[in-house]
Amino acid sequence: MSIRFKTLAELKELLEKKEISSYELVKETFKNISSSKTNSFITLDEEAALNKARDFDEGKVDGDLAGIPIAQKDLFCTKNLRTTCGSKILENFIPPYDATVVDNLLAAGSICVGKTNMDEFAMGSSNETSYYGTVRNPWDLERVPGGSSGGSAAAVSEGLVCAATGTDTGGSIRQPAALCGITGIKPTYGRASRWGMIAFASSLDQAGAFARNAEDCALLLNHICSHDSKDSTSISEERENYLDNINNNLKGKKIGIIKEFDISSLNKEVQDSFEKSKKIFEALGANFVEVSMPNIKLSVPTYYVIAPAECSSNLSRFDGVKYGYRAKDVDNLEELYIKSRSEGFGDEVKRRILIGTYVLSAGFYDAYYKKAQQSRRMIKNDFVDALSEVDVIMSPSSPSSAFKIGSKTEDPIEMYLEDLFTISSNLAGVPAMSIPHGFSDGLPIGLQLIGNYLEESKILNFAHQYQKNSDWHFKTPNLGESS
Ligand code: GLN
Repeated sequence: MSIRFKTLAELKELLEKKEISSYELVKETFKNISSSKTNSFITLDEEAALNKARDFDEGKVDGDLAGIPIAQKDLFCTKNLRTTCGSKILENFIPPYDATVVDNLLAAGSICVGKTNMDEFAMGSSNETSYYGTVRNPWDLERVPGGSSGGSAAAVSEGLVCAATGTDTGGSIRQPAALCGITGIKPTYGRASRWGMIAFASSLDQAGAFARNAEDCALLLNHICSHDSKDSTSISEERENYLDNINNNLKGKKIGIIKEFDISSLNKEVQDSFEKSKKIFEALGANFVEVSMPNIKLSVPTYYVIAPAECSSNLSRFDGVKYGYRAKDVDNLEELYIKSRSEGFGDEVKRRILIGTYVLSAGFYDAYYKKAQQSRRMIKNDFVDALSEVDVIMSPSSPSSAFKIGSKTEDPIEMYLEDLFTISSNLAGVPAMSIPHGFSDGLPIGLQLIGNYLEESKILNFAHQYQKNSDWHFKTPNLGESS
């Protein structure tokens, strides 16, 4: 039986009914990975995965995700398993502990098959900044899968795994989910622990999930989200069961459309899909309301001051001394720092460190960093106001479908604009997700649903109802010879 493209819930059922063993599942997963052309994985862990599968088959493991192979973004520390964060500087880094998110997923019985490729330190929207090579979009191998969690998105889209973790600082779960035609969710900031997640921009970074549909995402969030005393920004409020409200009726619910997002400037197919998706929600009894968020236009520039500022501080730990890459043939400590960092980091990471150091420097702090913090607060207030009027906000997830590899690498600003629709929810800290809702130029595009603080169950409810009344999430790429 082929397991490719089965959902998490379907695989769970097959295992429960003993129609397939976990060993067979893991074996086929590695077989599929070995013939894949997408470069979705940086490191594989076949032997350990097969051992865990045997344990499950012998009745030694239980849990909600028991026996299910999943993939971890290579930004989560995994005990005794190489964790590179897509960078040369961590090429040989073997963490001595698991990130809390990894720990939680293992405690639920899931099996980690390996670590997925990503933009270096999660900086990028196309996976082209990875030291381990570009990830290819399974729908068209000449195109990007989105980023930074492109390896996870491509692996789920291609049916190598039914689920994978991701992280989202400015759109890195939603944009690749959209470009690969799958479902991805970023919970409220602080809902999932950042402990053991290699930091990019700590006030924005948030872990989340990729799967084939919203129901699977809900099941995954039930484990990914937890309170963690090891993370000082972790939310202590008890986590809901995200499956509880997934079947709620949408009658009379209000969906906000952001006035300032100029959807008419997007291509015709993206606009048409958006209109058709509105009709689906209307048929389910929801109403649309226009909401004004006057400061949302400041999101991209605000993010590109705050995120680099935090990154320049976070990445100062990579100095060639404590761990990671160390340059050879140096004469003194300063030279060791300079050479190790110059040789270990890629261009995009260096660009961000330079910008971040600049905006935090004494003469410019007030003009840039302080201003960005002020506009961040105004953007957050816009969300608070809008979400007091509506249940969820809806927008496209990204301006277009997947673009050609290499087509935006020369122009960082154009690349940064990929996150036009996603970045604001990170600045505000609200939960948001992307679901497949059509095609443009024959490639998948995504619909974004944004919710109020701690209302991930509401966006999952909207997404699940949408998916019960549409079939975009069933579409799979034609893998041709790679299958
Ligand atoms: N594309 C954005 C960036 O390059 C967001 C990345 C992310 O969410 N990790 O910073």
